[in-house]
Amino acid sequence: MRFDIITVLPELLQGPLHHSIMQRAIDKGHVEINIHDLREFGFGKHRQVDDYQYGGGAGMVMMIEPLFKCIEYLKSQRDYDQVIYMSPDGERLNQPIANKLSLLKNMIIICGHYKGIDERVREYLVSHEISIGDYVLSGGELPAAVLVDTITRLIPGVLNDESSALFDSFQDNLLAPPVYTRPAEFNGWKVPEVLLSGNDKLIEDWRHDQSMERTQDRRPDLLNN
Ligand code: SAH
Repeated sequence: MRFDIITVLPELLQGPLHHSIMQRAIDKGHVEINIHDLREFGFGKHRQVDDYQYGGGAGMVMMIEPLFKCIEYLKSQRDYDQVIYMSPDGERLNQPIANKLSLLKNMIIICGHYKGIDERVREYLVSHEISIGDYVLSGGELPAAVLVDTITRLIPGVLNDESSALFDSFQDNLLAPPVYTRPAEFNGWKVPEVLLSGNDKLIEDWRHDQSMERTQDRRPDLLNN
């Protein structure tokens, strides 16, 4: 899978995408992440990429031309399945959307800044708009990193135990069961007996019950889906 991320703050994406599982996925060749500095497509000496909004009002707007040039440049090299714009008013990201996107090959992700991007980019150049939740961030970089991370861990071979993503929360509309590690007792606080029993069937049943209970308790809305 190849991600091309367009941003005015490339440094902001270096940290989140270059550690742990993400870095290993890159090293093993499961994903390729290319970060493009939009300013390289900006105007003049200052590489301008934003301007005042028509109609007045506070806040700059990212101009269509630099984004158009950057997207055209990328599209001249290969085909893209999706051009995604990270936006608070986009479709709210969830596990089914991540599952679907994990099957794609190439995608462009646009990070907005300031007041957002010229509406014509969204109308004519973007194919899918995604929000990471009902709150507003200063830029699309952290949302893009969230999207790339959640997609990447679903790609076969990225997680060491391939089946492990399948048992995470939200797959099957259930929350994950509680997990424990050594010691079996700390401060008198014990790990549930069944997990030490060595009986796979009992453990599996217990985990399923815990998942159901936890979902019922914390996210009953998931069970109605
Ligand atoms: N004026 C816009 C918000 C702009 S925030 C509005 O009210 O809708 C600046 C940029 O941050 C956006 O262009 C978008 O790329 C990103 N962003 C902010 N919050 C986001 C969220 N919840 N999900 C995805 N992207 C977000």
